[in-house]
Amino acid sequence: MMKKIIGIGGSLMFDEGGMFPGYARAYVNNDYVAAVLAAGGIPLIIPVSTDKDVVDAQLGLVDGLILSGGYDVNPLVFGEEPHRLLGTTLDDRDTFDTMLIKGALAAGKPILGICRGVQILNAVCGGTLYQDCSLAENSNVKHWQGNQPTHRTHTIWIEKESVLHDIFGDKTIVNSFHHMALKDIAPGFKVTARAQDGIVEAFEKEEGSFVLGVQFHPEMMYRDEDMLKLFKIFIEKTEEGKS
Ligand code: MN
Repeated sequence: MMKKIIGIGGSLMFDEGGMFPGYARAYVNNDYVAAVLAAGGIPLIIPVSTDKDVVDAQLGLVDGLILSGGYDVNPLVFGEEPHRLLGTTLDDRDTFDTMLIKGALAAGKPILGICRGVQILNAVCGGTLYQDCSLAENSNVKHWQGNQPTHRTHTIWIEKESVLHDIFGDKTIVNSFHHMALKDIAPGFKVTARAQDGIVEAFEKEEGSFVLGVQFHPEMMYRDEDMLKLFKIFIEKTEEGKS
């Protein structure tokens, strides 16, 4: 069987010093690439653009789509004004990710959303976000850990009859580098994992093409067998579609 090509939605990084302060670089953290490689897929980084024809053509090259982490989602995407606890946003990235999501959903291509990825998926599909975890009632778990990316720091409890349950069982411990969180869940999606404080840690689309979002960073933990299995299952789902 031909290996599947997995698109990884890219981001922009701006130099903070050096020779060209403010200079833009197209990038993803290499763990996304490494995780796809380790899981047997062919990674293809898709650079940020805001031209729908370009994005549609790029999507046409891939079998599945990973939405990577990064900037906060501009609350205007889900109809709210910016709260003072909001972090840095990048409108072009929101526009780009929105095109990726709509295009992949329309084409029935599997999507794996990670961190910002699950957040913008929820927002684009009709849900809303907490602009900071502290705005969620009773949220007290440390969701921005001070530890190494590979370190697993807080527990998540997982719903039965979910893809995550098939991998991890009733609960597992994950890393956590987020300060926004899902609030109202988009129609057609179900929450499949939460932290102890109720913060949503994963959701899945209930019908149609495979769409899974996680608030933690499995790519940073891909050296762990269970996290690698998540990528393998995602790639398997791309094989169930048209080849
Ligand atoms: Mn968390």
